[in-house]
Amino acid sequence: MTARRIFGVETEYGITCAPPAGRGAGVSGAGISDAPPSSDGAAGAREGAEGARDGGAGPAGGPPAVVTADDAARYLFRKVVQWGRSSNVFLRNGARLYLDVGSHPEYATAECDDVRQLVANDRAGEAILDEMTEDANALLAEEGVPGTIHLFKNNVDSAGNSFGCHENYLVRRRRDFQAMGEALIPFFITRQILTGAGHIRARAGGGASYAFSQRADQMWDAMSSATTRSRPIINTRDEPHADADLYRRMHVIVGDSSVAETTTMLKVGMTDLLLGMLEDGVRVRDLALAEPMRAIREISHDMTATSPVELASGRRMSALQMQEEFLARVTAYLDSTGQTAELTDVQRRVLELWERGLRALREQDPTLVETELDWAIKGRLLDRYRSKHTLGLDDPRVARLSLAYHDISPQRGLATTLARRGLMARVTTDEEIADAVVNPPASTRARLRGEFVAAAQERRRDITVDWVHLKINDAAQRTVVLKDPFSPVDERVDALLAALRV
Ligand code: ATP
Ligand code: MG
Ligand code: MG
Repeated sequence: MTARRIFGVETEYGITCAPPAGRGAGVSGAGISDAPPSSDGAAGAREGAEGARDGGAGPAGGPPAVVTADDAARYLFRKVVQWGRSSNVFLRNGARLYLDVGSHPEYATAECDDVRQLVANDRAGEAILDEMTEDANALLAEEGVPGTIHLFKNNVDSAGNSFGCHENYLVRRRRDFQAMGEALIPFFITRQILTGAGHIRARAGGGASYAFSQRADQMWDAMSSATTRSRPIINTRDEPHADADLYRRMHVIVGDSSVAETTTMLKVGMTDLLLGMLEDGVRVRDLALAEPMRAIREISHDMTATSPVELASGRRMSALQMQEEFLARVTAYLDSTGQTAELTDVQRRVLELWERGLRALREQDPTLVETELDWAIKGRLLDRYRSKHTLGLDDPRVARLSLAYHDISPQRGLATTLARRGLMARVTTDEEIADAVVNPPASTRARLRGEFVAAAQERRRDITVDWVHLKINDAAQRTVVLKDPFSPVDERVDALLAALRV
């Protein structure tokens, strides 16, 4: 078995409140017969940074937003604030739900130690936020405010603001953390050819083109003002949420949010396998890029994935060749250490999809991954719609359809329908997601937090919780510090639970 690792994903969601259906042009004829006739939220925000910087998440050129994004976020969190007395809470499934500055709701999954479990927990976040959205929309209706709140799992809003999806991986602390970064930066810059969400980019001279990633152009912006080259890709803030003598938390901020479960699976699974190899001391020094931030943008814009970029060594390689190299080294490492035979089903699926995704690019045949990788699933959807209606990629109707791909609502968004029609693959079952909404992962520290939160909710006790602390807010101020994220059992927590239940 490969070494056990803790990981979690934080997702910031885009939010908008759109005029009632009818006022905005809906998306119809998308080639999905049971798709909603009008995806009115799509009228409220255009996907992409091409929108006017109008200072709000309102429509770019469409009818005015009924309620600002700030107000919408407040409606969304009203119930949470009622029970949690804060817009920053930990849930009984071990996750953290909060509203940060910029009014993008964020869900950070509990600590997971298995990729499939992580996918389920990430989808549980969508389910929780969707329920909150439905409640908020009912509230709007009750108060006679016209409009519908939409939440989007994407990375750019109509005002050109970017928001993120952060991946967190626990790594053993070692002196050569920096050397690991050297291998990881070219990996993170090139993996977008597989794990990018697909993005309609406005071209400078007019028109639009399709790119791999929504985040890549934004990282360029972030980079140009930064001093160290690696900072915006791997956040170097040393905050392990664990025993700092033993561990570091690799905090990756460069990825696109993923809609398809299989894309999340690949994104986290391939990174986990590569980290295992690097932690075992295998070095990858020869793939460092000459200009990482230029490369990330160029690679995103080149849908062939075959244009070469310059390496620090002076050699020139395409993103496709670099990913083939990473896959070959990981596969060889797993073989030579006898781990191949012990891979889990989901790890095998990760390697198989990694290989097939690269083959799809090598053969320029996206049909090989058209139900599994976001850029290909969305690309196919947009292509069909465009050819049916003879539309350019820069047509606002195409932008709305593209945005509807990211709408988390099973009714208003397209993902559920695509999955039902066999156009989007799954990793989990609906039952697994429903379970992850209420229960924490059983195999990690999250279990202790989840039990503690649940017990406090049932007894209406006042507590304070974060990733490592559990505290009862009473005269005794009992606190337990959980420095081991791998451990789902702890006698001190048993005592704390007993104290809560008296
Ligand atoms: P912020 O986003 O507010 O800057 P942050 O980066 O600490 O802070 P959170 O939003 O609180 O992020 O989410 C932390 C994420 O890290 C969660 O998904 C959680 O499951 C995960 N995590 C917690 N402890 C560890 C750990 N020891 N190693 C790896 N991941 C962890
Ligand atoms: Mg966060
Ligand atoms: Mg973070």
